[in-house]
This record gives sequence, structure tokens and C-alpha cells, in this order.
Amino acid sequence: MRILVSNDDGVHAPGLRALVDALAPVGRVVVVAPDRERSAVGHALTLHRPLRLERIRPDWYAVDGTPTDCVHLGLHGILDRPPDLVVAGINHGPNLSTDITYSGTVAVALEGALLGLPSVAVSLAADRGGRFEVAGQAARRVVEAVAGRGLPHGTFLNVNVPPAGRWEDLAGIRITRQGRREFGSGVVEKVDPRGRTYYWIGSRELGRVEDDLDADVAAVGAGWVSVTPIRTDLTDHGFLEELGRWAL
Ligand code: MN
Repeated sequence: MRILVSNDDGVHAPGLRALVDALAPVGRVVVVAPDRERSAVGHALTLHRPLRLERIRPDWYAVDGTPTDCVHLGLHGILDRPPDLVVAGINHGPNLSTDITYSGTVAVALEGALLGLPSVAVSLAADRGGRFEVAGQAARRVVEAVAGRGLPHGTFLNVNVPPAGRWEDLAGIRITRQGRREFGSGVVEKVDPRGRTYYWIGSRELGRVEDDLDADVAAVGAGWVSVTPIRTDLTDHGFLEELGRWAL
């Protein structure tokens, strides 16, 4: 069993180390991760400049590119054959609801799934507090299940672990769907020292979250490890037929 691991918090992030330690008993782990933090770069692929790869130690590589670049270089530049699994994380911070479209962590698993590999994204759903080791325990459980059972083609898993000091403090593992959440603009407008206006996108959270425990946001809020199956096919199949009746 060979596992390709990447993240978007960078190759030196403590969550990455925790994930590698958690998955070491499952198989041989090869890390290909961005050389610095690349959070919220989404599924970006670097096409207009060359990429550099640095071998930090055996089975650990840093790339001056995006998380998606790392999956590509892992598959096509470093490994002599495709890995059995792709795992992302452990991200420092949640990847829930529609936020996953911005996530470099989720993009790693998305890219793995697009390349036909069973893939899992793991996040510690806390901006502070919580222990990566506990999230690592959740990662190992889910990854072992995926290794044994596989996943449908074009589907990957998005795992979010609430902050907890011990595994026993969690409510358990809950299978969820993407939840809905309302956001504020979060944009701060100020004037720079040369008199020009600038804008800074900050926290967009309003805190309004649906309370259905089958939704990822609510489940994590209630102390459950949330596991959401995500499809790479973004087509709205339910709307296809009606759209076909439009006289376009
Ligand atoms: Mn991140």
C-alpha cells in the first residue's frame, strides 16, 4: 500500500506530520507538499512557469507550487507507479459547506479522484485548540476503510474533525452531506499610506448554520467527525431535464 500525501498548509505544517505519523502503519507514505502555505488556492494548476522540486528527506518532497501541482508531480515526476491512495491534510481549520470550493486541501483529494485514485481530505475543524493526533486517529480509520473497500469512480471523502483533547471526547463518526451556511462580506476597506483605498477579505462567517445533524457544519458543531462523500461531477442532474425544456 502506497499513500501519496499532500496539503495546503505547507510541507512544514504540524498537521502534515501528524497525518504521516497516523498513516505510517497503513502503508508507505510519500509526501509531496507545497514549500509554503497555499491555503485557499483551490484547484489551481501552475501552467505558466516551471516548478522546482526539493527532496527534504527520504519520501518527503517540497514543491514551489499549488497542492494540485503536488499531486501531479507526485504521480508523474516522483513515483514510479501510481499510489494506491491520495490523502490530504491534516488542514489547520475546517473545510465545510461551500467553503470546500476554495480549499487547497480538498483540491488534493479532488485531483486524486480525477486521476482515478481513492482519495480523502482531512481537516481539523478548529482555528485554535484541538489536537492533530486526534484528527489523525480519525484519518487512519477512514483511510483504512477506503483502502479495504475502495470508492466509487469520481467520488472522494471530505473528513472534518472537531477539536478534541482525546478521541473519547468526540461524539463519533457521522456520514453527512455538504451543509448550507450564510456568510457576511468580510471585506475590510481602508486607505493605504499613499492615500489609495485597499480591500482585505477577512472572516466571512456570520455564524448562521443549519442545525440538521446530517449537514457537515452542524455535525462538526455538535462534536461529530463529519465524513462527506463528494462527487467530481458538478452537473445538476436534477435540473438537466427542465433546462432542456428552455427554448435556448
Ligand atoms: Mn490550509
